[in-house]
Amino acid sequence: MDQENKPAHDFDIDLICEYYSNFERQGPGSPETSIKALSFIDNLNGLSQIADIGCGTGGQTIVLAQQTTANIIGIDIAPIMIEKFNDNMIKNNLQNRIKGVVGSMDNLSFKKEELDMIFSEGAIYNIGFERGLNEWNKYIKQDGYIAVSEASWFTENRPSEITDFWMNAYPEIDTISNCISKIQKAGYIPMASFIIPEYCWTDNFYKSHASFQDVFLNKYPGNKAVEKLIADERYEARMYNEYKKYYGYVFYIGKKI
Ligand code: SAH
Repeated sequence: MDQENKPAHDFDIDLICEYYSNFERQGPGSPETSIKALSFIDNLNGLSQIADIGCGTGGQTIVLAQQTTANIIGIDIAPIMIEKFNDNMIKNNLQNRIKGVVGSMDNLSFKKEELDMIFSEGAIYNIGFERGLNEWNKYIKQDGYIAVSEASWFTENRPSEITDFWMNAYPEIDTISNCISKIQKAGYIPMASFIIPEYCWTDNFYKSHASFQDVFLNKYPGNKAVEKLIADERYEARMYNEYKKYYGYVFYIGKKI
């Protein structure tokens, strides 16, 4: 089916995936923060099996691969991400132990206690933090790890504009202490949490996107879905700039009991 004959909704999703697949990373992050998260995790070796859920094009997966000798499976719902992911692994000569597979995080096909670690940067919100922590628990070995980054509130009270923005975008956003409590309730020992630095949002994410937005608008002149996508992203960047002391991404590391 060509793009124009697809139902409008599917076409929009394809465009959104195409847009994001142009970047090395699809969410705020950096090699240093992925390495920092890994520093709380021990016992990974050449026999270990890691799943990187919502892996995108694999920017952080390459870091995991360089820092460990483990086998890694990347899962993403978007075929265009997985295509680029597997190309990236070939380019980095990592294809023998890193594989990307199309799949959904709400329907994973791992065996019980098969994984030494579940890693997921900027993606668990797609099924919700609490649901992801609970549903993925069964796939992790005893003493294995979960390491996820999640948008979190830094303060108890916030200006209404930013509260409203997040209640519309992702009402499950919560404070760091409540997120840690959810990790504990889902059957993990909360080992660490840290706020990812501001440059992950500004330099690594919004700045790299800003320079590509006009290119994408010009590629699809007059396309309402593309115009909305870029307008929403510009608004989100303005919100971050104004309210970054109230929220950000936090990495949470838990060890399965
Ligand atoms: N981890 C990457 C990508 C984060 S963006 C990074 O940090 O750069 C979130 C990713 O989750 C996107 O690639 C999106 O396609 C994927 N995604 C969204 N819903 C999903 C689902 N239900 N199952 C698996 N992946 C999903």
